[in-house]
Amino acid sequence: MKVLFVSAEVAPYSKTGGLGDVASALPGALERMGHELTVVSPMYRRVSDGAHRLHDVYPEIPIPAIGARFDAILADDGRNWFVDFPPYFGREGIYRNDGDEHSRFLLLTHAALELCRRRGWSPDIVHVNDWHTGFMPLFLRSIYGSDPLFARAQSVFTIHNLGYQGVFGSHIVDDLALGSSRYLLHQEHLRAGRVSFMEHALIYSDAITTVSPTYAYEIQTPEHGFGLDAMLRHRSRDVFGILNGIDPEVWNPGSDPYLPSPYSASELEGKQANKTALLARARIDPDQGFLTVGIVTRLSAQKGIEIALRPLARRLDAGHIRLVVLGSGERRYEEAFGWLAGAFPGRAHFQNGYDESMAHLIEGGADVFLMPSLYEPSGLNQMYSLAYGTPPIVRRTGGLADSVTHYDPARGEGTGFVFDHYSEGGVGWALDQALTLFQNKAQWQILQRNGMAEDNSWERRALEYDRIYRRVTGEEQP
Ligand code: ADP
Repeated sequence: MKVLFVSAEVAPYSKTGGLGDVASALPGALERMGHELTVVSPMYRRVSDGAHRLHDVYPEIPIPAIGARFDAILADDGRNWFVDFPPYFGREGIYRNDGDEHSRFLLLTHAALELCRRRGWSPDIVHVNDWHTGFMPLFLRSIYGSDPLFARAQSVFTIHNLGYQGVFGSHIVDDLALGSSRYLLHQEHLRAGRVSFMEHALIYSDAITTVSPTYAYEIQTPEHGFGLDAMLRHRSRDVFGILNGIDPEVWNPGSDPYLPSPYSASELEGKQANKTALLARARIDPDQGFLTVGIVTRLSAQKGIEIALRPLARRLDAGHIRLVVLGSGERRYEEAFGWLAGAFPGRAHFQNGYDESMAHLIEGGADVFLMPSLYEPSGLNQMYSLAYGTPPIVRRTGGLADSVTHYDPARGEGTGFVFDHYSEGGVGWALDQALTLFQNKAQWQILQRNGMAEDNSWERRALEYDRIYRRVTGEEQP
């Protein structure tokens, strides 16, 4: 099938979180299955400034609906196209919350379809992601609905995080350029003064996927539905949960260029040298004997920092653990981790920022990886941790619940430490479970190897997306 895949971020060109990884790895896996992929994302300044080989293939493609023109740039990989429109994308960063944030991603949505027109390329599937491209399914039924090029196109919308919905005031309605199709908008909410990108994707897409089976269930409940649970329940027959996968080209302890000492399940000793390197880089006292807890995360309320700070501080104070944190985001969390690192020099370290090499070194060098999320649609770091023999400590929610099982020493089964209650007590309990097991080297290695044996490859997940593509195009009966 011909698949048009549109995303606000695509690794390695642009990435702030899991969406960027998925938009890179999933299209790759689909391509290897034999599908033909066109991936479209914006030409942010960091893309044009980066060390990528790019080719200006189609200059000045017009977007009649909004009266703009963009250049279509193709990467050397032959799959990734960039929408070059400097007034919108030639800014620092990726998401900006400037007054025209909605217009930036509407232009991306239009441009992806105009690129198809320019190439005479007729997609079977238009796969869009998160709120940024949420108007695509409606555009396919309205502005582009009479174009034979898109007559066969079925839309698939993937929710990577329901917490970000792209809700704007109704003053943006003209920017949607829907003309006489304006009646297709959610009229009640329009009258109430708001337009939601995410909501229109849920109404008009042919299939809705999200990034784990548990999250697919959770978002249909009031507790995790962010106000859209009723709408999702209404469409529940078209809602599917597919866990994200990991890209072994990028996340593989045996060939990771960021690790000073590559290792595998059969040679776990190699991990020690990475721990030494991590402790040195973090300026933590070099004694190997302490359970070193790693954290790599966006610092947002979703990630459960609140419930982790005190349990970590207590165990640092008692001298039981070491802590290395990499992250950026909300100032209150940056300050809290900054304080923790200041309070326990030689035991705790906080690097404030985004750093690919440090993220890999933490995965390779820490003993356990902590993800106490309030909610977690899929989560990737716990899967990287499994692959790196760095057992994850997670809360039983979303994709964490689907990818980590609590270790049972009696049976030697399980891949990490899983707690249920979103509380400091939950984190403390799980940390103590890890501390106890860490004393038993033989058991610890069984735990590590169990995780390393998990198959979280994208090849498997791509098969599930393929089934959904065939379902919406009618090739396979539901
Ligand atoms: P989310 O998409 O909610 O941020 P995921 O666990 O799905 O969470 O994906 C996060 C991705 O972003 C991982 O690849 C992780 O390594 C990366 N990441 C997050 N914060 C940082 C950071 N400060 N530096 C480097 N990589 C980071």
